[in-house]
Amino acid sequence: MKKIHEILGLKTLKQRMVFWITLVTISSGIIGIILQSFIQYKNEQEKTINYMNDMVGVQKDYIDNWFEERSFNARSLANMDSFKTLDQEKMKTAMEDTVTNIKDLQTIHFANKDGYIEITTMPEAEGINVSDREYYSEALKGREHITDVLIGKVTKEPNIFFTSPVRNYNREIIGLVITSIKLDTINEIIERSHYRESGETYLVNREGYMLTESRFDDELINQNKVKSTDPMDIIIDSEIFKNALENKEQIGTYRDYRGEEVLGVYEWTNSDKWLIIGKMDKVELINELKNEIYGSIIIILCIVALIIFICIKLSNQIARMFDNLIKGTNTISKGNYSYRINLEKNHDLPDEIKVLCNGFNNMSITIEEKINLTEESEQKYKSLFEYNTDIIITMELEGKLIKVNNAAVQITEYPMEEIVGSSFKKFISNDKMEMTIQHFQKATKGKTQTFESVIISKNGRRIDLDIIVVPIVVNGNIIGIHGIAKDVTQNKEYQRKLEETARKLKESNEDLEQFAYVASHDLQEPLRMVTSYLQLLERRYKGQLDQSADEFIAFAVDGAKRMKILINDLLAYSRVNRKAREFTQVDSMEVLKKAKQNLEFCIEDKNASITYDQLPMIIGDITQLTYLFQNLINNGIKFNEQEKPMIHISAYEEKRHWKFLAKDNGIGINSEHKDKIFTIFQRLHSKNEYEGTGIGLAICKKIVERHGGHIWFESEKGKGTIFYFTILKGGNKNE
Ligand code: ADP
Repeated sequence: MKKIHEILGLKTLKQRMVFWITLVTISSGIIGIILQSFIQYKNEQEKTINYMNDMVGVQKDYIDNWFEERSFNARSLANMDSFKTLDQEKMKTAMEDTVTNIKDLQTIHFANKDGYIEITTMPEAEGINVSDREYYSEALKGREHITDVLIGKVTKEPNIFFTSPVRNYNREIIGLVITSIKLDTINEIIERSHYRESGETYLVNREGYMLTESRFDDELINQNKVKSTDPMDIIIDSEIFKNALENKEQIGTYRDYRGEEVLGVYEWTNSDKWLIIGKMDKVELINELKNEIYGSIIIILCIVALIIFICIKLSNQIARMFDNLIKGTNTISKGNYSYRINLEKNHDLPDEIKVLCNGFNNMSITIEEKINLTEESEQKYKSLFEYNTDIIITMELEGKLIKVNNAAVQITEYPMEEIVGSSFKKFISNDKMEMTIQHFQKATKGKTQTFESVIISKNGRRIDLDIIVVPIVVNGNIIGIHGIAKDVTQNKEYQRKLEETARKLKESNEDLEQFAYVASHDLQEPLRMVTSYLQLLERRYKGQLDQSADEFIAFAVDGAKRMKILINDLLAYSRVNRKAREFTQVDSMEVLKKAKQNLEFCIEDKNASITYDQLPMIIGDITQLTYLFQNLINNGIKFNEQEKPMIHISAYEEKRHWKFLAKDNGIGINSEHKDKIFTIFQRLHSKNEYEGTGIGLAICKKIVERHGGHIWFESEKGKGTIFYFTILKGGNKNE
């Protein structure tokens, strides 16, 4: 097939399809025509042979009957009384009447038993002896006879004789009746059955002489095939004749006496003396078929043309789709991704081609979408790059800047052309150079780096940057570095200021604590003096001065006492951070027990119940933690009007903290005071209602914060309070 394509130069699909479809269709057409013609010919041949068979059969019957009639004529005469009695007068009359009435008969003779013709309708025949003829001896044997063609002794013409023996009443053979007919008569009978152009029936005797005239006299003579076409002038030796002699096949194709190809059939007649052959020229059969075959050829050719037309149309359609596909591929390869094959115009396409075209369209849609996405993401990247307020740079692995955004120009104050092409080292502050190079080198080995560095602007300004450097990896290879740098100069400034403020705050707090400490500590001595002398006054002069003086002294003593408590609490407050102990591993259960023990009298006095769950090991300042528990329990009992104050302590583990709960059934706190109660000296009740200085919870807050936690409460007035505080697991590292 490849060779054929090469030789014929069939390059395109369309050419090949058209070629092969035409070839296959024409070949099938030709085969169809041949088959059709062959079948038609065979049918026609069979029909013709059947027809001829019938014809020949009819001929045979006709001739046999005719012979029977002629034999009957001779027999009838022989059986007449006049013949039996040899009444010559009457015999002659009967014979002449018969010849006159029966046209076929040529002559009638009566020969005596010695073979001499005594009475005849042909006077020239009288006296002629026929004893040499076969029919004479047959008659003497008492048998009727029909001769083959014999040449008449008087007429010298070919005749057929019918003889019948004549017997007297003693049944002795006394002579024979001989009737003769001319061969022409047979000829006439046979001639009547010529059919079609070349159909012919003729008689042949066993010697092969044609007994009837040929239908093709003129033709034969013109062609000099024979000198005369009279009966007995043509000798037949065709195949069918030979077959007939051997009683072989009755039907066949052969060459007849004219040398023409014919279809023929035969039958024996005249007691197997003669052969009736019916035949017809093959050419005529073929000629007759021709028209029908031409008709079939035209129909088949029309069908072939139609098929070729449809196939060419179809191949055009398919080829057009392929052209579209090729055009589409070329268009897409040139960067136009919106090309689609219009399938609506070609909705009657074969399914496979539709699938192919749909596949192509889907492919181009996907490509277009992908390209659009890429373009979109490129644009997004571009705007991210261009409009970003942070510096974005792309560097080669050696550190040369190959792309920077506008922010780089604005922040560094260098023009673009001075930045692109330079090494990043040009901009880094000397004190940060080594560290920055190290990070850059790690990035070139594939590790993203985040660090702080400083660059010097063109005007000599120090600019603090938060930098991220990321390796650019393409197909597994690092081909460069992306860097993003945020200008944090201002943040750094804020941070510095914040740190400064915090430092100052810390210092002032420390000063304050120092002051509180000094004040409370140093006030203790004069206070102790004031108190002791006031007590001395009270002891010595109570009842000696007037009543008002006693009261005044009592107020002064009470004031001094309260002042003492206040100064102690203030001292404790100032000591939370100042005189703090080291953090150690502490069992909070033990701490609680210790606090409970310290409050033993108070608990008993108020009939309070202190319960607790399993409490954890924590890290902290054991003294301060004891104070914390003690103060919360004490408050729970103090701010409680129940007959049996109840306080329950429990703890829960959280991610970073232990969360402790101290739940009481006391008077509760209004939630609007959530911050107030943790502030120093802030109380919700007067000292007449509940004793206290308002420092306890402020100290608790300080202690909790020192342990890295928070303190707060949840409460509803009259329904008790839950105090929560958290302690950092593992201890507060800032301590
Ligand atoms: P003090 O106990 O000396 O008054 P605190 O700082 O311990 O000072 O408490 C501040 C205020 O918070 C108290 O005066 C009280 O009004 C309120 N308070 C503290 N604990 C409780 C509690 N368990 N129930 C109700 N009120 C409380």
